[in-house]
Amino acid sequence: MVKAVVGANWGDEGKGKITDMLGKEADIIVRFQGGANAGHTIVNDYGKFALHTLPSGVFYDHTTSVIGNGVALNIPTLMEEIKGIVDQGVPMPKIKVSDRVQMVMSYHILFDQYEEERLAGKSFGSTKSGIAPFYSDKYAKIGFQVSELFDENALREKVERICETKNVVLEHLYHKDPIRPEDIFEELMNYKEMIAPYVCDVSAFLWNAIKEGKEILLEGQLGSLKDPDHGIYPMVTSSSTLAAYGAIGAGIPPYEIKKIITVCKAYSSAVGAGAFVSEIFGEEADELRRRGGDGGEYGATTGRPRRMGWFDCVASKYGCRIQGTTDVAFTVLDVLGYLEEIPVCVGYEIDGEVTMDFPTTSKLQKAKPVMEVLPGWNCDIRGIRKYEDLPENCRKYIEFVEEKIEFPITMISNGPGRNDIIYR
Ligand code: GDP
Repeated sequence: MVKAVVGANWGDEGKGKITDMLGKEADIIVRFQGGANAGHTIVNDYGKFALHTLPSGVFYDHTTSVIGNGVALNIPTLMEEIKGIVDQGVPMPKIKVSDRVQMVMSYHILFDQYEEERLAGKSFGSTKSGIAPFYSDKYAKIGFQVSELFDENALREKVERICETKNVVLEHLYHKDPIRPEDIFEELMNYKEMIAPYVCDVSAFLWNAIKEGKEILLEGQLGSLKDPDHGIYPMVTSSSTLAAYGAIGAGIPPYEIKKIITVCKAYSSAVGAGAFVSEIFGEEADELRRRGGDGGEYGATTGRPRRMGWFDCVASKYGCRIQGTTDVAFTVLDVLGYLEEIPVCVGYEIDGEVTMDFPTTSKLQKAKPVMEVLPGWNCDIRGIRKYEDLPENCRKYIEFVEEKIEFPITMISNGPGRNDIIYR
């Protein structure tokens, strides 16, 4: 069976933990989109890890980790990540990389930086890892696919052609030094050497695995609201964050994705710019940020402090719907244990009207949160394993959210560890 683990919100919902946990029963874990611009934080018996490119299954010796064609593959980062986990005592994982995945080039990273400099204050809050220039090139059909590394003559020609166009922009828009075809070719040959042992026809591999009845997990990066089509455009990422894209980014039939587990955090956080209706500020936000996640709400890749807010029923309901959710995993609930009262956003007021429907960006910018305050449970719920053992107000909070978002919460995460989970 194929299951997807995806985010309902702006990312950082705790997908890494849920994937790691479900990975116990999985044979194969697949990354299908995104690049090294975001990360998952995973806490397990080996220690604490921030993964950016590797799927969260790399810690199990029974799983194969797959990088699907939909990913923005930064090869040096992948190599560092493999080395990093092996150095910390994790057995060398089984890794397969799609022969159709495209590579993030050094100039993509440069273009990302130059564009952010050029836009100055009007930037999109890029992490400058080359993701937007990478996907632009992919769809402009001037990207490099891993399979192309193995045809050196064709590659040489293509490199010449691409340097020509890149250099026009470098010189005239950014006023920077041009890139040299021989350097780019050498870069590609280095990538070839590094990646060759892992290259595989991933869609054929997965097709066979499905036929053999293997358990496959698709692991999404970021969340619904960062999807380029259905998110808060243009403050989005450059590849689809939706479970549906899992079929494309892994190369499997869409009807094989039987379960879509949408991870939803018990409060909100976001990185980068863009409307964030239930955002809070000042001491209230600082306290939640400090207590949030596992050691505070700071970016796994960038270390940036995340923007904080209360749970947003409007955004989460939409986020779950657009994912095609079958199950909600409600995470980081333990963090709210310090509160006497918990505000929840239950509607958006836009031009004097209250709605539960998540709007497009121009309306979203005008939305004001309609809040409702629920009583807190004011105690530590870590270690609880049965739903009935949760404090009454905590169950009421979960049931309130479930009613508002209209999708079943079947898993509740009350701590960062693999076993901190309550099935319902
Ligand atoms: P991802 O990108 O969706 O995987 O999210 P992150 O890597 O940002 O994960 C969120 C953080 O919360 C990580 O530091 C996790 O270890 C931590 N985390 C996940 N689930 C829980 C939970 O239920 N409780 C607490 N306290 N921390 C959690």
